[in-house]
Parts: sequence; structure tokens; C-alpha cells
Amino acid sequence: MAGTLRLVLGDQLTRGLTALDGAVPGADEVVLMAEVAEEATHVPSSRVRIALFLSAMRHFAGDLAAEGLAVDYVALDDPANTGSLAGELARAIARHAPRRVVMTEAGDWRVEQALIRAAAGVDLDIRPDTRFLCSRNDFRDWAGGRRQLRMEHFYRMMRRRTGLLMAEDGDSPAGDRWNFDAENRKPFDATAAGGRPPAPAGFPPDDVTRAVIGLVDARFGAHVGDTAGFDWPVTRADALMALEDFITRRLARFGDYQDAMAAGEEVLFHARISPALNLGLLEPLEVCRRAETAWAEGRAPLAAVEGFIRQILGWREYVRGIYWLEMPGYAATNALDAHRPLPWMYWSGETDMACMAAALSQTLRTGYAHHIQRLMVTGNFALLTGARPGEVAAWYLAVYADAVDWVELPNVQGMALHADGGRMASKPYAAGAGYISRMSDHCSGCRYDPKRPTGDGACPFNALYWDFLIRNRRRLGGNPRLALAYRSLDRMAPARVAALGRQAADFLAHLDRHGSDRGFGRPTGAPTDTTGDLFA
Ligand code: FAD
Ligand code: SF4
Repeated sequence: MAGTLRLVLGDQLTRGLTALDGAVPGADEVVLMAEVAEEATHVPSSRVRIALFLSAMRHFAGDLAAEGLAVDYVALDDPANTGSLAGELARAIARHAPRRVVMTEAGDWRVEQALIRAAAGVDLDIRPDTRFLCSRNDFRDWAGGRRQLRMEHFYRMMRRRTGLLMAEDGDSPAGDRWNFDAENRKPFDATAAGGRPPAPAGFPPDDVTRAVIGLVDARFGAHVGDTAGFDWPVTRADALMALEDFITRRLARFGDYQDAMAAGEEVLFHARISPALNLGLLEPLEVCRRAETAWAEGRAPLAAVEGFIRQILGWREYVRGIYWLEMPGYAATNALDAHRPLPWMYWSGETDMACMAAALSQTLRTGYAHHIQRLMVTGNFALLTGARPGEVAAWYLAVYADAVDWVELPNVQGMALHADGGRMASKPYAAGAGYISRMSDHCSGCRYDPKRPTGDGACPFNALYWDFLIRNRRRLGGNPRLALAYRSLDRMAPARVAALGRQAADFLAHLDRHGSDRGFGRPTGAPTDTTGDLFA
């Protein structure tokens, strides 16, 4: 018997979590944590992601127990494990017969609904997740009555609200500008950057992580991900070191090369802290304040620090707000009526397109790719080929170490695929080879020619881009931000338009012949173990 059952989910590893408010050693209460296979298999999660979550959970549970709290920890290989979070909550309710269950809002609509159902009949106290800087209700209030939701407006409101990078009057931005995007778009140049980017600090597995990796490799051996190279922070202390490493060694150049890509440079000057943030090992406000202090101390320019804070205070909070505003319908949006299967190369990494091969192989191996790789390479390709949003979202949720539904889904549906019809972004992020050629060095090592739209050796992105515009003219033709592109299309000779259409059709047919149409989760060699459990 326990008076209170406190539920802590796998992405809630923060001592200040509202579900743990008031938790003290010796009280009539127990903390429940459960590793469940369903969270690793409802999409076939990368082994890197599963190992990261389980190791971080075990470390956090150890910290709570060391503090003297009673922790009821259900391991993945516990023979009685039901395999689902709802099943484990129901079992714990039967075991402890609590007067009330306390939890913090989940990060996944599906999980929250299942837990609410599992706790039916018990007093359930769902507390707000105060780690986020804008609550679900505050976002709803901000969004209410606006015809269009735009991140920039939300971001300025959040700057004023938190005081981050504000002038002394508290109303105008530091440096008299809200946005330094124009400065933050340089292609990477090692000479101008003062050499190659410093490798990010790595965190080799300790005993706990090694045990988890053994379990994960044995149980989810068919899933993608290379656990041999695992080096993610799994404790708060490690996560703070990872943050410090970024602030002191990469932040100053973050802005300049924020949109750049370079062969062999997997992180460039990015922070690589999204898994730690999403697990709860770091809090967004402390990360932003740390960056702001680096600027105040003259260790990083304002453009870099503003660009970085915009990602966390702006985009991260904005996508979470959109998710909870729009779910559950958001997951089913398909405004561009896209129905092609996700190309098989997303699971195999095998393609002769150099930019795609780099982004995919890095992703499948490490569980990490930076934003521009996700948006302008793999996301752009999925958009242009008309891949089904459900399959694309499942892929992004499966392969990244930082993947959690509230952040992955809006980035896919809203940002990469425009499947939400423009609710989140004012235009699709569609681009031909010009963008990748300008922002990376991939094209120089590619068998395709980024300048050629048609013919042998023409870069597939080019014909696919024009074909995308032609195919979606009815839906996108009136978008003022695409007016220039449609004017260019209209100036083309009909024979050229027809050639672009043929080139795109040939390429798409070739994709199919090579096995893209095999369905999610079942291509040869792709993860097939979708029978089991989830983890929490
Ligand atoms: P940096 O570039 O160093 O940025 C700093 C931080 O800002 C990140 O750690 C992250 O917390 C935040 N951030 C940056 N961009 C975004 C964004 N668009 N949305 C929300 N937060 C952002 N991020 C996830 O955390 N989980 C996901 O599952 C995820 N899926 C994505 C899917 C697609 C299609 C796209 C286009 C983006 C996705 N992102 C996701 C956002 C972004 O790509 C990652 O947060 C970022 O690449 C993480 O690397 P970093 O820590 O080096 O980020
Ligand atoms: Fe990618 Fe095209 Fe450049 Fe090759 S030529 S790297 S496919 S953009």
C-alpha cells in the first residue's frame, strides 16, 4: 500500500519535475518507472535511442533511490513486464493500491491517453510540465483568434516574457534586432572558420550503459543504430559537460554555419544537446541563459547566440505548442495528398546521391543529424517525391536519438512536408539542387550534376522540384512566397516542362523498381521486430 504513486516517464528525468514536487524520503509514497518494449517497437526505434533512454532512466532511478525515495523500477527483462506503459501503470496500481496517482503531462498524446485510461478509477493528478517555457494553455491563448500562427511572432513574445536577450527597457531586443538569420547562412569554409570544427565531447559507456546496450542488442538486434559507437550523455552531470563543451568550443561559430553541411563533418558547430534536453537532463531555460551569459562575457557574438536561443526559446517551444493545439488530428494531416511509399534508401542508406547518402548513413549509424540535413536533404527529398506523411513521420521517430512525438511530428508534418497545409510554416521548404550545392560540398563528390535539370547525370532534386510545383499548382499556386517560382515555371517552354516531368517520372519509377514500395517496417533487412513493448 502507498498513499501516492508518482509516475516518472522516460523523458521526464528531471529532479524538479512536477510529478516529484513534494517527494521526500520516508513518505507514504512510491515512484514508478518502467522500461516497456512498446516504446521501442511501435516504430522500430534505433538501438542508439533505446539504449540512451534506458541508460538515462536507470541512472536517474539510481539518483532518486540514493536520495532515499522508494523507487519501483520495472526492467525491460522483468518476466512480468506487460510491455506497455499503460499495462505497467495498471499493474503498479494493483500492487500498491495508491490513494492517488501523480504524473506530469506526457510528451506523447498516445501515451497520455493510454495512461489516463489505465488510471481510471483512481484519483489522477496530471501536473503541467514546467520544464517548458510556454504551457499548453498559454500557447492556446496565444494562438487563439490568430488567423496564422508564425514562429517569429511567438518567439518575440517569448523573448519579452523571459527577458532573454532584451535591452534594458525590457521591450526591445538586445542589439536592436530580433533576428540575425541573414548573417547565419554561410557555407562552411574551414579556412574562414579557423580550422575544422572541434569534435564534440563524447561520453563512453559506463557499466550501466554497457549492460543496457547488451540487452538492447540482444532484444532489438534487427533495429538500425550502431551501439558500438555510443557516446551520448546519460546523466545530468554528463549533460552539463556536453553543454559547457558546446558553449566554450562551438557556440561562437554556431550562427555562421547554422545552415551549412560538409562531407565528413557530422556535427559542425551544432550543440548536439537535443537528446539531453528531451530526456530532461538539461532544462531549456538554463541552456538559453548559459548562452546569453557567454554573449554578455564577450565569448560569443550576438548573431550566434540569438540564432541558438531562437532554436530553443522559439522553435522548440513553438512546435510543442502546435503539437498540443492540434493533436490528435495533426498526425493524420496530408494536405498535399502525398501517397508514395517512403523510398527504401531511408532504411538502407544506400543511394548514389551523395548528400542523401551522407545524411542517411550518419543518421542510421549515430541517431544524429543536424537540422539542415533533416529539413533540406532527407525532408526535402521526402516532400519532393510525395512520400506518405505517416511513413515519413514514423521514420523520423524511429531513427533519431532525440526523437519524441511532440517535437518530431510538427517538424515532419508542418515543416518538412507541409502536410498541415501551412498551419506551422508559411511555405513548403522545397528546393532543387541549388540550395544543397550552395550550402554544402556534397555535390563535388556526387555522380550527379547539380546544375543539370534533365538528361543523363542530372541531379534528381532539380526535376523533382519542378515536378512538385507542377503537381501541387492547385494547392500552392496562390502562395505569395512561391510566386517567383511559379513565374519561372510559367516562363519555361512547354517542351522543357514536359522534359522535366518525364525526368521526374523516370526517377520515381526507378526508386520503385529498387524496392521503395515495400511498406513501413517490412522492407528486407529493415527492422521487423514490431511485436513487443514500448519503453517509458
Ligand atoms: P542545434 O542546431 O544545436 O539547436 C539547439 C537546440 O534547439 C536543439 O538541441 C533543439 O532542442 C532545438 N531545436 C533546433 N531546431 C529545432 C526545431 N526545428 N524544433 C524543435 N527544436 C529545435 N528535434 C528533436 O529534438 N527531436 C526530433 O525528433 C526532431 N525531429 C525533427 C524532424 C525533422 C523533419 C526536422 C526538420 C527537425 C527535427 N528536429 C527534432 C529539430 C532539429 O533538427 C533537432 O532538434 C536538432 O537537429 C538537434 O541537434 P542539436 O542539438 O545539435 O541542435
Ligand atoms: Fe545531392 Fe544533387 Fe548535389 Fe548529388 S548533385 S549531392 S544528389 S544535390
